[in-house]
Amino acid sequence: MSTTLISGGTVVSANGTLDADVLVAGEKIAAVLAREVTETGEAAPAADRVIDATGKYVLPGGIDVHTHMEMPFGGTFSVDTFETGTRAAAWGGTTTIVDFAVQAKGTSLLATLDKWHSKADGNCAIDYGFHMIVSDVNDQTLKEMDACIGAGVNSFKMFMAYPGVFYATDGEILLAMQQAARSGATVMMHAENGIAIDQLVAQALAAGHTDPVYHGLTRPPELEGEATSRAITLAKVAACPLYIVHLSARQALEAVAQARDTGQNVFAETCPQYLYLSLDDLARPDFEGSKFVASPPLRPKDHQASLWSGLRTNDLSVVSTDHCPFCFKDGKELGRGDFSKIPNGMPGVEHRMDLLHQGVVAGELTLPRWVEVASTTPARMFGLYPRKGVIAAGSDADIVIYDPAARQTLSAASHHMNVDYSAYEGMEITGRVATTLSRGRTVIDNGEYLGAAGHGAFLPRGLNQYLL
Ligand SMILES: [Zn+2]
Repeated sequence: MSTTLISGGTVVSANGTLDADVLVAGEKIAAVLAREVTETGEAAPAADRVIDATGKYVLPGGIDVHTHMEMPFGGTFSVDTFETGTRAAAWGGTTTIVDFAVQAKGTSLLATLDKWHSKADGNCAIDYGFHMIVSDVNDQTLKEMDACIGAGVNSFKMFMAYPGVFYATDGEILLAMQQAARSGATVMMHAENGIAIDQLVAQALAAGHTDPVYHGLTRPPELEGEATSRAITLAKVAACPLYIVHLSARQALEAVAQARDTGQNVFAETCPQYLYLSLDDLARPDFEGSKFVASPPLRPKDHQASLWSGLRTNDLSVVSTDHCPFCFKDGKELGRGDFSKIPNGMPGVEHRMDLLHQGVVAGELTLPRWVEVASTTPARMFGLYPRKGVIAAGSDADIVIYDPAARQTLSAASHHMNVDYSAYEGMEITGRVATTLSRGRTVIDNGEYLGAAGHGAFLPRGLNQYLL
């Protein structure tokens, strides 16, 4: 079995930092050796290969639990495949994704899962799991939820938005929550009041308001707050664990915080775009705003401070990307003259770790909290811990060596996502991935991709490990 010693670095975990060397044997972490001990005692163990991590952080690989690779949307597909998307993720220090299998109306969950396995199998550079999007609640679907759980997929996403597409009624949501609750599975919710939003969209278009900014103006934060409260109430009635995806609005955060204060099993994530971008970006001229169309929409700037605060108080526990890229050319442009036809979604899987590190640089997050929201909590929340999310003996050797002093400028010209623009074009970042290991294999090193499609394996997941 080949061994690698990562020496001289600072291991950052959710609990704190430790000057330690990390010994990798095959696909696993064999030992974490405190340097205080190795330097004064016996010499460090011999290894086939030594990586010098002096001056760098040694992190558990990032876990992005919200991505959409090659997702069908309005007759087109998000443009990153499992191959290109997982490669880009590795460049940015993410070593696990959990993507969404999407049930089309009239189809079965298990057939859907098979279909997504065939898209990902043999193509991923890093390990991956699936959540299931439930868009057709009926007796067969409800029965199949248990079979999905048996197949390692125990989180089910539903939509209070997108009437006629993914939308589920409150009654359907309640039924699915009751079913999930019997097994301890989690329901994930896209919480926006889609019925009311559709009226606002129709009014805006009738008044001739067609620019991208109206995507934001017709989805006011109050309608995210209302839907979040309603989802929390339904989950309480069904006694079902609830995870609010891509929380963007202060009103929604308040609802989550209140539920958590009562001890309800309610959790939430936000995404870098809501921490760094705003309604002003949606209002950029010349249809540039279309690059920022995603749902929920980017919010007025003053929501950002609330979201950073929520990350510190743990009312927001996870940061994921909702990576769902559409090119500007021939993609976003489908919505010229009608903002409601702009494909919803933004690229981001490559830059989550870097953008959150800016939060550390700016004093918004501590170093351990960075690792916690980007790796350790996602692993626990979605049943992957301690295989993933921690640098400890016995865990998978998914390790990122991060240079906190490096400088980089984000740009479509240099990123690795398969999309023709960057939402952060020109943004200067302090910090950069030096090396990414996935189960012991070097995927990224010193600006070079050394991974392989098909190295990444499917991860059957256990239940949420935070349930009370
Ligand atoms: Zn999404």
